[in-house]
Amino acid sequence: MSNQFDYKCPQCGCAGDLEIAASVWVCLTADGTDADMSENGDHVWDDNSEAACQACGWSGKVLALASQHKGGGPFSVLLLYPSRDDTGGPETYYQHYTAADAAEAVEQARAQASEHGEYDPDDFDLLAVFDGHINMAYNTTIPTSE
Ligand SMILES: [Zn+2]
Repeated sequence: MSNQFDYKCPQCGCAGDLEIAASVWVCLTADGTDADMSENGDHVWDDNSEAACQACGWSGKVLALASQHKGGGPFSVLLLYPSRDDTGGPETYYQHYTAADAAEAVEQARAQASEHGEYDPDDFDLLAVFDGHINMAYNTTIPTSE
C-alpha cells in the first residue's frame, strides 16, 4: 500500500502505515468537539508536524519523510572563508549536514559558517559538496604564520 504523497518510513520503508499529526477545525458541542460539524473542513500540516509509522514505531517530523522523498539525505560541505588580510592564508569550513538537497545543505553551511565571524553567508565560496557524511582522514589545514 502506498500514499498519495509517495512518502515512505525512513526506518522500515513502508508507505501504508504512516500517520501525521495535523491540525483540524472542530466545532464545540454540548458534549465536546466534533470535527465533522465544523464549517472549515481544512486540516493543516507541514514539514514540522509530528509523523509516525505504525508498522515499526518510528516517529519524527514530516520533514524526514519529505526530504527522503526528494532524494535528500546526508551531505558534507566544504566552503572557503572570505579572504582576510590577517590570517596569512586561505581558511576552509567543513561540516556535515542533513538536508533535502545539496543546495539546501550549502545554505545551511553558509548560515552556520557566517556565525563564526562578521561575515555575510554569501561571502563564502563553495568548494565542494559530497554525498554522505564524510570524515576527513587527514586535516590539510594550511598552517598560518603566527
Ligand atoms: Zn516504519
